[in-house]
Amino acid sequence: MSQNAISYDKPQPSLTGLHGEFYAWCRDRELRFQRCKGCGRHRHVPRDICAHCSSMEWEWARSSGRGTVFTWTEVVRALHPAFAAVTPYAPVVVEMEEGVRLLSRVVDCTPDELQIGMPVEVDFEKVSDAITLPVFRRAAR
Ligand SMILES: [Zn+2]
Repeated sequence: MSQNAISYDKPQPSLTGLHGEFYAWCRDRELRFQRCKGCGRHRHVPRDICAHCSSMEWEWARSSGRGTVFTWTEVVRALHPAFAAVTPYAPVVVEMEEGVRLLSRVVDCTPDELQIGMPVEVDFEKVSDAITLPVFRRAAR
């Protein structure tokens, strides 16, 4: 994948607070999730407190980058003008080995090639100097 930013006119994530920290790791081409120091569970989206044990102690733990397709939907009519040129496309929920789920895209297949449980692994798509998005590619079983 190219390290150069592509022309990207779509809405972009907020870079404030814990979300900013998450995307800073992505900018370094590392997928990291919060891991609770109380119970050891991973969590995503980033938040201050563990939903399982209420601990506020956590660390950024590097993900294996491997997961499977949990579900997806196919968008055939863009709800935002910036996506009109890329329909149909499939927002995909990936279930990571760490147990967290992440909304992303599988960039090397069409929506009709997606399958529940399909193994995928993370890649990164630099869309601006500030933002690199985690995306996924098909992986061997
Ligand atoms: Zn916990």
